[in-house]
Amino acid sequence: MSELAAKLRAAMPELRGRLVADQRLADLAWFRVGGPAEALFTPEDEDDLAYFLERAPADVPVTPIGLGSNLLVRDGGLPGVTVRLGRAFAGIAPAGGARLKAGAAAADKRMAIAAHEAGIGGFAFYAGIPGAIGGALRMNAGANGTETSDRVVEVYGVDRSGRRRTLSKAEMGYSYRHSAAPADVIFTGALFEGAPAERDAIRAEMDEVLRHRESTQPVKSRTGGSTFKNPPGHAAWKLIDQAGMRGFSVGGAQVSEMHCNFLLNTGGAVASDIETLGEEIRRRVRETSGVELEWEIKRIGVAA
Ligand SMILES: Cc1cc2nc3c(=O)[nH]c(=O)nc-3n(C[C@H](O)[C@H](O)[C@H](O)COP(=O)(O)OP(=O)(O)OC[C@H]3O[C@@H](n4cnc5c(N)ncnc54)[C@H](O)[C@@H]3O)c2cc1C
Repeated sequence: MSELAAKLRAAMPELRGRLVADQRLADLAWFRVGGPAEALFTPEDEDDLAYFLERAPADVPVTPIGLGSNLLVRDGGLPGVTVRLGRAFAGIAPAGGARLKAGAAAADKRMAIAAHEAGIGGFAFYAGIPGAIGGALRMNAGANGTETSDRVVEVYGVDRSGRRRTLSKAEMGYSYRHSAAPADVIFTGALFEGAPAERDAIRAEMDEVLRHRESTQPVKSRTGGSTFKNPPGHAAWKLIDQAGMRGFSVGGAQVSEMHCNFLLNTGGAVASDIETLGEEIRRRVRETSGVELEWEIKRIGVAA
């Protein structure tokens, strides 16, 4: 066990969750690259998470991850504690009217299915987003003209000192693929609201969302989804295409031929190949169009 995991465990006799050292993060992220987590904590429930955060020394970095579909973990791994919420946080339940309460570890796809079953419209866009609700809350995940902020009523979480927080939609400070909510809050769930709808119509919308996605995105590849945010007034993929980068590769990393804003691990990539490729794209787009691309993918950890 790494020194950190052993030290934390010794200081927390009532910890019930799983705390392991040197856990491979490449297995937990869509790109399938990156070094290990110094320690990985899977809390048993919200009390356990609060207990842990209250007692973990303030200088120990804590990073939450979801399903790793928007993450590039660098090759040297992630120092401190990585927190991954498990089954106890994956529930989705009706909350009266057209409202649903979902745990942060519930997959977005499950959210679309639960809303369909409950006859609640407005969640079909989640059908094709491969993350979990915690990541969707942090990223303001969206597709097909709807984003998470359109459905959020309030968000629940625990901050770095172990204090339980309820954040209103205004406090989440949403903008395009961004939340200004305090960075130290680990979201544990949220209350959402849609509108009553015919189940057949919801089903048809979900089918259309999935059909469109499969024909335009490399959804079965090792990727991190859209690499860069669309700059105001531009589509990132178009700028990348115009810069001549379609299919361009660095080591085992390649710009998708199908969708230029997706980078692929073609098999043998390491994280630095993907990051170097991303930076090369930014440089060439700056040169050809004068536009500065901003990473949408979250790059975490340290270089090898
Ligand atoms: C094939 C493919 C298609 C995609 N299509 C879309 C799309 O259409 N629209 C879209 O918006 N995104 C898309 N994405 C990106 C990604 O799925 C979303 O950003 C998703 O919301 C990330 O969720 P996650 O659980 O995978 O989070 P992760 O990638 O694990 O983490 C993302 C960020 O959220 C934070 N985070 C995760 N969980 C929590 C938590 N419980 N509390 C606090 N912070 C947390 C992490 O620290 C990190 O900063 C796509 C990705 C892929 C691979």
